Amino acid sequence: MSTFEQNKADAAGFLKQFEHGVMNYIDGEQKPALDGTWFDTDSPVDLKFLAKVARGKEQDIDLAAAAAARGFKVWSAMDGKQRQKILHAIADGIVARAREIALLECIDTGQSLKFMAKAALRGAENFRFFADKAVEAQDGQSLYLAGQVNITKRYPIGPVGVITPWNTPFMLSTWKIAPALAAGCSIVHKPAEFSPLTANLLAQIANEAGLPKGVWNLVNGMGEDAGKRLTEHPLIKAIAFVGESSTGSLIQKQGADTLKRAHFELGGKNPILVFADADLEKAADAAVFMIYSLNGERCTSSSRLLVEESIYEHFCTMVADRANNIKVGHPLDPETVIGPLVHPEHEAKVLSYFETAKAEGASIAAGGKKVANLNGCFVQPTLFTQAHNKMRIAQEEIFGPVLTAIPFKDDEDAVAIANDVEYGLAGYLWSQNVERCWKIADQLEAGMVWVNSENSRHLPAPFGGVKASGIGRDGGDWSFEFYMETKNISFAMAGHTPPKLDK
Ligand code: NAD
Repeated sequence: MSTFEQNKADAAGFLKQFEHGVMNYIDGEQKPALDGTWFDTDSPVDLKFLAKVARGKEQDIDLAAAAAARGFKVWSAMDGKQRQKILHAIADGIVARAREIALLECIDTGQSLKFMAKAALRGAENFRFFADKAVEAQDGQSLYLAGQVNITKRYPIGPVGVITPWNTPFMLSTWKIAPALAAGCSIVHKPAEFSPLTANLLAQIANEAGLPKGVWNLVNGMGEDAGKRLTEHPLIKAIAFVGESSTGSLIQKQGADTLKRAHFELGGKNPILVFADADLEKAADAAVFMIYSLNGERCTSSSRLLVEESIYEHFCTMVADRANNIKVGHPLDPETVIGPLVHPEHEAKVLSYFETAKAEGASIAAGGKKVANLNGCFVQPTLFTQAHNKMRIAQEEIFGPVLTAIPFKDDEDAVAIANDVEYGLAGYLWSQNVERCWKIADQLEAGMVWVNSENSRHLPAPFGGVKASGIGRDGGDWSFEFYMETKNISFAMAGHTPPKLDK
């Protein structure tokens, strides 16, 4: 049997565990929705049914939030070293089931195994990194004033709602949940309705790793009922959200009555700036990697290619040649780079931009079509050229393997174009002139800038965006600033005398 056939057989085998449905996971138990309703998850590979999924609603969230409040009391009182041990056990559980996670993620989301195998292991790394930080989570500072010492200590904020999107859902869930647990918070997780399978595996692994009951709860369902209730629930103290900017805005409104703290990782329209003095071979590889890997369904994808005028034609040809040589196919074929987009609705949105590009007067230098001989949501890797920054294809997040190339005149023009969007998540910069790199990196309106490299993540470094791309930072100690409250305790030094107001 070929590796491809073996992958398909194994995926089918792993899927069998869901033949009675993908359950919610509340208070340490797998449960159907309280009202007994379900929704279907289909595969974008062939549009066939994969499993029915418990459709949690308000009452399921209420149950989960109450369990999380009880779980919080036990978990937050536990010593950091004990939490560290359990979080490492979760990482071990992920590694042990990495193939199962990767294969199910591929058929549920359409992401290729090439990338999902690594994403499952990245999830384990997220748990290991934050496991070791659990020990220091409560640490604070001591701040001296004459006659007084201030001591700060951090406390977990309480039960937290975690709402995640469908792009690389397993890895992203671990990215939000691991620091919450390390801080001492309990969680209620509402995964995206398009990709529910691996969230259930993660909850199973966590509960088997010895987490006390109620610390990790999972409620599947739609944004407008389960998601909304989570953001409004009085027992939930904060919402960690990854998704679209417009949903972030809704969540902020929904959370207003309960003064919910919110952390937002939202959309992007990230520029990659390529100057004539760059190493063009490397820059082209990075540009191609950052837009076509993960099907372009990636918040940090470099979806606007800004190229210095003098090399614009040449560089666009380099990118188009590479794009035309990328294999699109079944996500479980080990050769596949680009799999199908997550859902027919999303595919329709991405395809609509091909018409938009033509109507706006841009040229299609590569791709621009649905893949003809495949049944699922397969779209060709696409490059739009002869574009300018006022076009919709340059301003709106398409969230697929679609790149818009725009020429610029000089440094000033490059920065002006790069910053002229509502988003500000990431920026990429290619030049061999160090002075220029520093100056431009400093001027880009973005939470993260990579100079002469693709996005390479370092867990202690801050991750997050500005403008419509988000509020707050993840990574390192920044995560704890969101999941924890700081208390200041002030001690008077010996000999302190309070002022006397009476005579
Ligand atoms: P989405 O906003 O449609 O959905 C995300 C989640 O929010 C889902 O679980 C959904 O059910 C839930 N939701 C929807 N309406 C809600 C409501 N009213 N109240 C509470 N929850 C609600 O996003 P998506 O289409 O699943 O994901 C793609 C988006 O995510 C893109 O915009 C992408 O850029 C963004 N993203 C950002 C980052 C980042 O780090 N900045 C990372 C990954 C994805």
